[in-house]
Amino acid sequence: MIKNIPYGRQSIDSNDIKAIADVLCSDWLTTGPKIDEFERVFSASVGARHAVAVSSGTAALHAAVYAAGIKSGDEVIVPAISFVASANCIVFQSGKPIFVDVESDTLLMDAKKVEKAITKRTKAIIAVDYAGQPCDYDILRRIAKRYKLLLIADACHSLGGAYKNQPVGTLADFNVFSFHPVKHITTGEGGMITTENSELAQRMRIFRNHGITADHRQREARGSWQYEMADLGYNYRLTDFQCALGISQLSRLKKWIMQRKEIAKYYDSALAKTEGIMPLKTKASVSHAYHLYVIKLTAGRDRRIIFNALRQLGIGVNVHYLPIYLHPFYRKEFKTRPGLCPMAEEAYNSILSLPMHNNLSKTDLKRIVKTLERVLRTNAK
Ligand SMILES: *Cc1c(COP(=O)(O)O)cnc(C)c1O
Repeated sequence: MIKNIPYGRQSIDSNDIKAIADVLCSDWLTTGPKIDEFERVFSASVGARHAVAVSSGTAALHAAVYAAGIKSGDEVIVPAISFVASANCIVFQSGKPIFVDVESDTLLMDAKKVEKAITKRTKAIIAVDYAGQPCDYDILRRIAKRYKLLLIADACHSLGGAYKNQPVGTLADFNVFSFHPVKHITTGEGGMITTENSELAQRMRIFRNHGITADHRQREARGSWQYEMADLGYNYRLTDFQCALGISQLSRLKKWIMQRKEIAKYYDSALAKTEGIMPLKTKASVSHAYHLYVIKLTAGRDRRIIFNALRQLGIGVNVHYLPIYLHPFYRKEFKTRPGLCPMAEEAYNSILSLPMHNNLSKTDLKRIVKTLERVLRTNAK
């Protein structure tokens, strides 16, 4: 049987395992000292003032939308192409997602179209650093300031990236990360929000703990049983052993980003002259974190045929993503229809994500490129 090369995969080493085992043998499995430590080292690594750890990237988005004060009737701008959670978080708080089309060569939200989508009801913008390429935050921050909107960066793809030498994690009012196993670092499930605003950080800490204003360690320190629930919150806490894994993983982030850049460079040069595909464009002002390496098939190529052929040959390609508003839920609840964002729909029909993670060997990469070239040749239009 041929070896399958997945599109994403975690890297776990013996230090990670020891870090988890140490916590499992300690007094605190959850809401213990590892939370503070993970938040401290994470905020330091991106240069942000505050970091709030939660149980997933989706919980992180939800906490940000909550702390931004989104409520029924509020509109929030979000790109058409992203993972569904980027828009679901708005709906969790009864807000209305307003889908904005993407640029065809980067699949980043088109900043020119953001301003046109703003109404009296708009309260926030969620920008997505698609594939790991940071958005144009100078423009987005200017728009947010002019219309008094909060800017949320869904940076689940771009940990370790930068915009004009400013690290991802410091670019928006809220910067949201995921530690799902396909992301840059993992805690199994997990997420983080960074912010410069201590009040917003505090609101998110309360939100992740049922809306209760003191956690059990704080109560114990005060020698008190009392607690009050000030607002509706959730149990979005991350366990201490997950935080220990996160701390251990974070120490290898720099190396992993370099490896991802090397892989991207290999694909860029190996595929430069390949007939039938085009890589997405990387802007000069960014340092790309390469969560994904996305190619577009040129006109006339059938994505389904190419996708199936590659999968059959053990190359774990994927498609990121169907425009969010075309999912049945959004069609039903928000009456969204094909034609809303033409660039996103056109891109969706031609994109393929090639394998991208730090376990790819030179042999894997050569096989991916050779197989892709062969599949494109045998399915030439
Ligand atoms: C992974 C991801 C999320 C959600 O993260 P989870 O940790 O899986 O909940 C949100 N937005 C984007 C763009 C993602 O890639």
